[in-house]
Amino acid sequence: MQTSADFVVIGGGCIGVSVAWHLAKRRAGKIVLLERNEFLGTESTGKCAGGIRAQFSTEINARLSLLSIDVFERWADVIGEPLQYRQWGYCFLLTSDALVSSFKKSHAMWTRLGMNVDWLTPAQVEAKLPYVSIEGVQGATFHQRDGFGDPNDITMGYAKRAREMGVAIETGAEVLEIKRDESGRRVTSVKTSKGGINAGTVILCTGAWTRKLGGMVGMDVPIDPIRRQIIVTDRFDEITDPFPMTVDLSTTLYFHRESGGILIGMSDQTETAGFDTGFNEEYGEKMLMTAMERAPVLANASPKHKWAGLYEVTPDHHPIIDRLGPIENVYACAGFSGHGLMHAPAAGLVTSELVLDGKATSLDISQLSLDRFSDPTRLHDEANVI
Ligand SMILES: Cc1cc2nc3c(=O)[nH]c(=O)nc-3n(C[C@H](O)[C@H](O)[C@H](O)COP(=O)(O)OP(=O)(O)OC[C@H]3O[C@@H](n4cnc5c(N)ncnc54)[C@H](O)[C@@H]3O)c2cc1C
Repeated sequence: MQTSADFVVIGGGCIGVSVAWHLAKRRAGKIVLLERNEFLGTESTGKCAGGIRAQFSTEINARLSLLSIDVFERWADVIGEPLQYRQWGYCFLLTSDALVSSFKKSHAMWTRLGMNVDWLTPAQVEAKLPYVSIEGVQGATFHQRDGFGDPNDITMGYAKRAREMGVAIETGAEVLEIKRDESGRRVTSVKTSKGGINAGTVILCTGAWTRKLGGMVGMDVPIDPIRRQIIVTDRFDEITDPFPMTVDLSTTLYFHRESGGILIGMSDQTETAGFDTGFNEEYGEKMLMTAMERAPVLANASPKHKWAGLYEVTPDHHPIIDRLGPIENVYACAGFSGHGLMHAPAAGLVTSELVLDGKATSLDISQLSLDRFSDPTRLHDEANVI
């Protein structure tokens, strides 16, 4: 393994490989990416639903998505690798006055950002999504540029091109300790299960594990692991393609096409922080019942695969992209709160700017600073979390 690097990126999920690729593209210097698992993208990234959408309630999240969608649309040109990417849209079903009013506000913001989001009446929902029960639906939004993409294509695309540009990707290398100089303000090296590396700058892209890594340099990085579950059915043709990612925000149910079947997700709001990724069968049953209520035709589908993974949740459901306060040469790009895949291109870009230029210029990311958590008036919670 390399014994020194200008930049040590820790974490080989979609965020770490994007950061490494963006740094390499800027010819930043010697870059090493450390991943403790045998393969890249096997934690949250590999467990995710692949959803990519710009319909967020906060402008910063919408902007992170728009920057990223622009890249996903040109993926073959930018990365030179194929990406399974379906822009079949996202449709949010709105079943309460509160949701309608919140989405009306968001709709005005989306229009200002140049997004072309349709506002659908219940009758239009029925015509567009004939598989949906419109029971309780007061309206819906639909954005054609939203959709879903393959997490593995995204991760491996960045990794392959980063390697070609000289990034050393070390798998099976768990970071055990991050060492600082006598002042405590500068990191000097990283100790891993495969050996040590002298490090110029360290970037934590460790998703749900970032609180632990932050702790290694004495920083509290408020990111909690929260279990989220997915069920994928056997081949199912009774819903005709193309159909959008369909989301019922009141229950957090979502579903879309996956490998010929239907991928169903729903967030257990009673879940507490923890690293358990065992599948909760009882909640799985609830997911299926809720799916059948909203799309009765799904009663004919048979569950085939099921799994649980971790969301990496911050208190305001926005990522932390910042230097870790008093430590001069450690940054975090983590805590995407269930939206990291869709934000990976933008996250890598702005992190590379922050690290290399001292400031992100493609997007104002001041709202994503770590110190926002010490001032509750600076927190703008993302409402459209599923
Ligand atoms: C069920 C589910 C559905 C989701 N659906 C979507 C979706 O539709 N759209 C979307 O955009 N996002 C979705 N997400 C969220 C998305 O998966 C995450 O936001 C994203 O994968 C975060 O990427 P990451 O690289 O930060 O984290 P990860 O993919 O978890 O990568 C972090 C890496 O750091 C490594 N690591 C940790 N500690 C160490 C250490 N000490 N040393 C070395 N390596 C270490 C880990 O092994 C891991 O590989 C979903 C997540 C889940 C669980």
